[in-house]
Amino acid sequence: MTDVLLRGGLPWGLGAPADILVRDGLIHQVGAGVDAPGARSVDVSGQLVLPGLVEAHCHLDKTLYGGPWVPHSAGDTLAGRIGNDLARRAELGVPSAARVRALLERMSAAGTTHVRTHTDIDPLVGLRGVEAVREAAAGCPVDVRQVAFPQHGVLTDPGTAELLEEALKSGVEAVGGLDPAGVDRDPVRHLDLVFGLAERYGAHLDLHLHDGGSLGGWELELIIERTKALG
Ligand SMILES: [Zn+2]
Repeated sequence: MTDVLLRGGLPWGLGAPADILVRDGLIHQVGAGVDAPGARSVDVSGQLVLPGLVEAHCHLDKTLYGGPWVPHSAGDTLAGRIGNDLARRAELGVPSAARVRALLERMSAAGTTHVRTHTDIDPLVGLRGVEAVREAAAGCPVDVRQVAFPQHGVLTDPGTAELLEEALKSGVEAVGGLDPAGVDRDPVRHLDLVFGLAERYGAHLDLHLHDGGSLGGWELELIIERTKALG
């Protein structure tokens, strides 16, 4: 890998201009007047130099980026937005590896280096979203980690739990969950199921929670109990 020397930028937090030498993809040296024969030199004088950006929550599999303009059609509620996704998925050609790739390239050009993306899994789409994201991420400079995400419920959408497990077996790094009460109507069973999958496959767990008030507070207590139990 070619060494890269960033000349004269303003590294975030340093308070003064400096050169940054990047070697083998890692910051090797920071300071004034760095000498690096053979390195590709890039003049970034006066520009802020930031660490790579981390996009910790997105839904790459549902992107329409790079395709024709699609007017907003979802209702105002969470259920309306989720239902709109499902109703228009086939018509809009979602998931599309080409569009995911186009978005990843745009993110990379804007400085994103790491992405965690929630990929829809349900009996209709199966693992096509997981495969599309995987195909798009192959060879891409952005490090992409997926969450097997039950956007349309686990308990209320029979067959989804088995598909989540299949996704984890195939190497997906995290399992997701969604409003254990508001969507799945049974917080204890929902959380036991997704925590159980996370434990069995050594996967991360990343939950979407929109339930508010005392119901939301109780869900957090259930999550804390299970997190402590698993250490
Ligand atoms: Zn989300």
